[in-house]
Amino acid sequence: MDYGEILRRHGFGFKKKFGQNFLSDENLLAAIVRDAEVEGETAVEIGAGAGALTRALAASASRVVAFEIDRSLAPVLSETLMGCENVEVRFSDFMKCNLAALEEELGSYSVVANLPYYVTTPLVMRLVEEGKNCRSATVMVQEEVALRLCAKAGTADYGAVTCAIARRGTATIVRKVPRTLFYPRPNVDSAVVRLDFTKGGFAADAKKYRAVVRAAFAARRKTLENAMMNAFRLSREEAADLLARADIPKGVRGEALSPEQFARIAELL
Ligand code: SAM
Repeated sequence: MDYGEILRRHGFGFKKKFGQNFLSDENLLAAIVRDAEVEGETAVEIGAGAGALTRALAASASRVVAFEIDRSLAPVLSETLMGCENVEVRFSDFMKCNLAALEEELGSYSVVANLPYYVTTPLVMRLVEEGKNCRSATVMVQEEVALRLCAKAGTADYGAVTCAIARRGTATIVRKVPRTLFYPRPNVDSAVVRLDFTKGGFAADAKKYRAVVRAAFAARRKTLENAMMNAFRLSREEAADLLARADIPKGVRGEALSPEQFARIAELL
């Protein structure tokens, strides 16, 4: 299907503010669908665009619910998704949808999306914190963001979002995608990341875990002891005692701690 020709014929103008960099390479689209493993499942797509990934998903998933914020894509999608009976396009902002109601409606589902860059971190955080029925999310993101999502403790890319994901499951870069495969062409390369939500979360209360992680990364250059003192109004003795009870070596910086160590601190707070 010639998506460029269809977009031109409908007089579509690309909107940078919505992160509109579209895909059309059939091999890549089929590969993303394989990466997502949605055969016979319900897939939720965030940002249908011209419908290229939506069509590829429709050939494998039993049901596709595709969100698209830009209503001006409606005539394009009517044409490109013609005959895809298992697809439903919802013209609304996914970040504002009632996720609990959507989950109630869909049951178990997987997210598959070539994400607009500005939505990536808030979306991942939302799925991690609220996505009870979300099995996995296979998402195309900017390469530097992919490195952050999948980073190991102690590396420069390791941060709050990495730790948030680790509480719920795993993140893996499944393929790199050069910028040349997008239209219009962005200034950076991308990667497909697969998030598998296999854990219910550590025992630690989610809010406390988030607060400990946030405190540690807000003051990356400080020792964890200092970061805990500031964030939770602890005396030096109290902070030292907390970390000793959590079995954290003295003088360590927060960025070196594993998600399990953050969870231990949260449990003891
Ligand atoms: N899936 C298409 C593809 O791969 O060619 C389009 C991907 S494009 C990177 C991102 C799409 O997400 C755009 O069509 C944009 O309008 C849409 N979008 C941006 N923000 C959104 C939001 N908050 N909710 C739903 N769709 C959004």
